[in-house]
Amino acid sequence: MYRSHTCGELRLTDVTKEVTLAGWVQTVRKLGAAITFVDLRDRYGITQLLLDEKLNAQLDNTPLGREFVIQATGIVNERTSKNANIPTGDIEIAVTSFKILNKSAVPPFTITDETDGGDDLRMKYRYLDLRRNAVKKNLELRYSVNRSARNYLHENSFMDIETPFLIKSTPEGARDFVVPSRMNPGQFYALPQSPQTFKQLLMVSGYDRYYQVVKCFRDEDLRADRQPEFTQIDCEMSFVEQEDILNMFEGLIKRIFKDVKDIDYTEKVERMTWEDAMWNFGNDKPDIRFGMKILNLKSAFLKGGSIQASGDLINGANFAVFDNAETVLAIAAPGCSEYTRKQTDELTDWVKRPQIGMQGLAFIKYNTDGTLKSSIDKFYSEEKLKAIAEATNAKPGDLILILAGREERTRKAMSELRLEMGKRLGFRKDDEFKLLWVLDFPLFEYAEDDNRWVARHHPFTSPKPSDIATMIDNNPVIENADKYLEHPYSNIKANAYDMVLNGNEIGGGSIRIFQRELQEKMFAALGMSEEEAQHKFGFLLGAFEYGAPPHGGIAFGFDRLCALLGGSESIRDFIAFPKNNSGRDVMLDAPAAIDQKQFDELQIKLDLKD
Ligand code: ASP
Repeated sequence: MYRSHTCGELRLTDVTKEVTLAGWVQTVRKLGAAITFVDLRDRYGITQLLLDEKLNAQLDNTPLGREFVIQATGIVNERTSKNANIPTGDIEIAVTSFKILNKSAVPPFTITDETDGGDDLRMKYRYLDLRRNAVKKNLELRYSVNRSARNYLHENSFMDIETPFLIKSTPEGARDFVVPSRMNPGQFYALPQSPQTFKQLLMVSGYDRYYQVVKCFRDEDLRADRQPEFTQIDCEMSFVEQEDILNMFEGLIKRIFKDVKDIDYTEKVERMTWEDAMWNFGNDKPDIRFGMKILNLKSAFLKGGSIQASGDLINGANFAVFDNAETVLAIAAPGCSEYTRKQTDELTDWVKRPQIGMQGLAFIKYNTDGTLKSSIDKFYSEEKLKAIAEATNAKPGDLILILAGREERTRKAMSELRLEMGKRLGFRKDDEFKLLWVLDFPLFEYAEDDNRWVARHHPFTSPKPSDIATMIDNNPVIENADKYLEHPYSNIKANAYDMVLNGNEIGGGSIRIFQRELQEKMFAALGMSEEEAQHKFGFLLGAFEYGAPPHGGIAFGFDRLCALLGGSESIRDFIAFPKNNSGRDVMLDAPAAIDQKQFDELQIKLDLKD
């Protein structure tokens, strides 16, 4: 061993011991000719080295630079001026000898918590970025989430079983990454979007509790919080119903909270139907750390859900914007009635941004003295405004914000506005964690372009038991595209569940179809011919003929879970070697062209379309 101790472990109790440390030079501070202080860093911390006059001569011959790797032997001394900010701050090492193990070029950015390196530079030299404490802490957190999950799953009889990466397509709604096969020219493997079909086959094989912390690959356009390869905690269980899964995995998340954050999440995780989430929060992953529920001021229809009628609050005023809108939605922002003109104008600009896409914003100030002032008081009497305000549960002192327009866009915009106001009002705290199960999703979505159904989760998800007959008994073909909402399939609910943490989907899964007949019906509903279903999924349909048990499962987005527990927006900060937003690894400079020889071996000729 090059060292007797790490740079993070020596304390006053070690004073007078002779020790040897090895690590990276963080800083060199020369005090005159006689004394040099070196901060030596490794994964465990920083220890101050003191080099006296004798060693300074050696230093003059071979100066130390930042990030040099050195080995130093000396005696642990109590420091005269202590540093309370670091655990080793009471001691220093009076060095008797040291050796440079390796030099370092000047690093392109400072290896400090607050670095001067921009994002691109840090990614290019990720191996240096990973030396920074801030990044190291994220990877440590990731490892502790991993360990906690594995411990819990192991204690509950789950078995970690690896599944292959070179497979045939598994539809999870994204594009596959493909890999050419040299031994089978002209044929391609797909990388798994998830181990979905394999974990189901393992259930057929009798491994009734499976898990894997596993890489998944999806060739999607990348948003800030997506990666083309990402990690899931993937699980499956046999002989279970939805309730069993919810309980088991509520347990998993609570255990992770305890192990990683020392949080006792003792309350039961709240549950909400998909429909309630959509009506009250405008999206299927509501942040329930705060209220500000959305109120429908006009009757509206939810795709895959019901009609909501909201009485006459806004009708009869001859206000064309509201009269002509498909939907009119309102929220009450608590304590904001004193917003100035400048503030309401700024909010109006906010909803008009292309990402939100609204034409304007109406508001009602419900003043603390009970009077009302509004941007629409030309059309509505004070009495009417008060009725609208009270319908949104507003209290004196609140500001009611109203959006009107096309149904889907307005709902999305209101959902964003609610989150934005929640953030501005300090309701979305990083250190508050609120879990939610969202249940009863629609099984199908309608794909307008192809005039057919698509699976909202994936094609292996079972309908609710009470909807199975509707699925079997009806022809999935949509005769009249304009009336797809009237097709019985549009109301079938899935036996599926998502786990939401602070407005982020962290996991999702379902009870699966396990009978061949129903699975065939599902493939047919998705527009697959019998031959196509046989070609793509013959192995699964075949397996269902040999005693498939009832089963279900879930997968958690491991990267995102870590980011949320670490209080960060970006999953990249929690991945050792992430890709950038164009899917590139800028350190490796990948993807990259390959040699002609490799094409020849694959018998592939490159002919790029422009
Ligand atoms: N395979 C699914 C997914 O990746 C999760 C599941 O249904 O278990 O979303």
